[in-house]
Amino acid sequence: MKKVRLPASITVKELADRLGTPPAQVITYLMQNGVMAALNQPVDFDTAALAADHFGFEAESEEAAIEAAAAVPGATAGARRRHPILDLTTEDPASLAARPPVVAVLGHVDHGKTSILDRVRATRVAAQEAGGITQRIGAYQVERQGRLITFIDTPGHEAFSAMRARGADVTDVAVLVVAADDGVMPQTDEAIQHIRSAGVPIVVALNKMDKDGINPDRVLQQLAEREVVPESYGGQVPVVRTSAVTGQGIDDLLDTILVVSDVINPPRANPRRPAAGTVIDSELERGRGPVATVLVQNGTLRIGDNVVVGKVYGKVRALTDDAGKRVREAGPSKPVQITGLTDVATAGDVLQVMDTERAARALAEERSAQERARITQPVRRITLSDFAAVEGETKTLNLVLKAEANGSLEAIRGQIVKLEDPNVKIRIVGDGVGAVSESDVNLAAVTGAIVIGFNVRPDERARTAADELGVDIRFYDVVYQATEDIANSIKGMYQPTFVEVYQGRAEVRRVFAVDGRPAIAGCQVVDGRITRSAICRVLRDGREVARARIDALKRFRDDVREVARGYECGITLEGFADFAEGDVIEAHVSEQQNL
Ligand code: GDP
Repeated sequence: MKKVRLPASITVKELADRLGTPPAQVITYLMQNGVMAALNQPVDFDTAALAADHFGFEAESEEAAIEAAAAVPGATAGARRRHPILDLTTEDPASLAARPPVVAVLGHVDHGKTSILDRVRATRVAAQEAGGITQRIGAYQVERQGRLITFIDTPGHEAFSAMRARGADVTDVAVLVVAADDGVMPQTDEAIQHIRSAGVPIVVALNKMDKDGINPDRVLQQLAEREVVPESYGGQVPVVRTSAVTGQGIDDLLDTILVVSDVINPPRANPRRPAAGTVIDSELERGRGPVATVLVQNGTLRIGDNVVVGKVYGKVRALTDDAGKRVREAGPSKPVQITGLTDVATAGDVLQVMDTERAARALAEERSAQERARITQPVRRITLSDFAAVEGETKTLNLVLKAEANGSLEAIRGQIVKLEDPNVKIRIVGDGVGAVSESDVNLAAVTGAIVIGFNVRPDERARTAADELGVDIRFYDVVYQATEDIANSIKGMYQPTFVEVYQGRAEVRRVFAVDGRPAIAGCQVVDGRITRSAICRVLRDGREVARARIDALKRFRDDVREVARGYECGITLEGFADFAEGDVIEAHVSEQQNL
């Protein structure tokens, strides 16, 4: 059978092209199978693969192919995930020209990310625009050695991972800021994991070099231990010693970014085509309407272009650059603020220029319709229940591990890696201590991982993100249960008998005492509902402090069977009364799961 590589989403026209089949035949086949798609409408990989099969092709996921080939030297393991419209592999190589690298700044809080971004920006203002007012639009460009570098102005891995979870991969080089007086801290570790999963090369800014009592060698050692091996240790990661206060090393940092991007993965794009890019910031501005900052990634964006951005469309009315100047066009790697959209766009959404306003509008409406349809359909997830190793074929089970303490994290990790067998590789794509957060879920979504929470719970936003992105989160409080589930799922024998189904959560607003002792939790239901028969977990700072059945559920003085979101209620639990204000009571029911 002939093979064909397909992206996660492809228009019917493109699919027909790749299959060398008249589009009408593809449309007919899809219609016969219940998929109504017009020529320029996208279908997902699974649908496209079925059609491919019908026309005699074996479909292969482009993303999987990219993943397999993702050995970027200097960059760590991982894969670049590009939105199909930003996929340059379909461009004629002769039309590609160099573009400025796009840089994101990550690292632990207070290590100096913002200060470095400010310093870097200041080098430009001093050099080119003395007295000029620089506008903050979410990204900016600086010049160095006659070349440009684009910096994303929102530091930290939360923004970085949220964008990636939406399929936007804008960064070419990541600057990891580590304070020389503090060393590698938890968010440094998290940042490393996110950069690694993005497959982006790292430049370390060893910051606060002006301070007394610093220990740079210890920091290099810590980084080496995490496989971010500095060049001075024989590794591939350049380390630049900086001070955002004195300005030491800032020029050197810019030079190093240019070298790294030249050597490892020279950024390229085709400036002579309609633009495609990613929204990095957006808001509703008085008098101007919805404005969005777009980082153009391919092509050139011009005034008057008809664009679609996610579910929003419009005609570009004005382009403003990071110096606050009106410009007529913006080429690859240039951030510009645009006006003319019908609504506020979402950061991370991809902008695409269409031939006509009608086409832009149609695609935006199609996406809204698809989203409505998705909401009523369960999301397809990678779950433990459907992960089964096939004999003779190597599979990778990706996991994100979270535990309440370092000790238990190490314990569970040690047990889990032992489960590897010749057919199954287990890759821990991320781990950490603390509640399962939105950025953990984002990391799991982009790496196709399952999140394992050990004695921890997700926060509200993590749960919403998991639902939206279709990420499976599993919670355990006994190590062997986790390892047994994973082992069984590898063998294809995973049979959970009972699963806890989440119902809702309430926040404890006031604790009422009876006989001088806390007894009743005065709550507000903030999500879902709480029913009388639920089993409740009491969570404090993301950790479970108790688990108990409901003893009484009251609205005012009445016993009730259920309380819905938005309402207040009083909860007493069997055998637990030690509530504190701010606790979260999470209600579950136990249900048998039939596979
Ligand atoms: P962020 O949380 O990583 O963005 O860190 P900030 O840029 O907000 O910096 C945190 C604190 O460290 C601020 O008080 C800065 O003034 C200070 N700081 C940042 N860089 C340096 C540096 O190179 N040297 C010294 N001495 N202080 C710095």
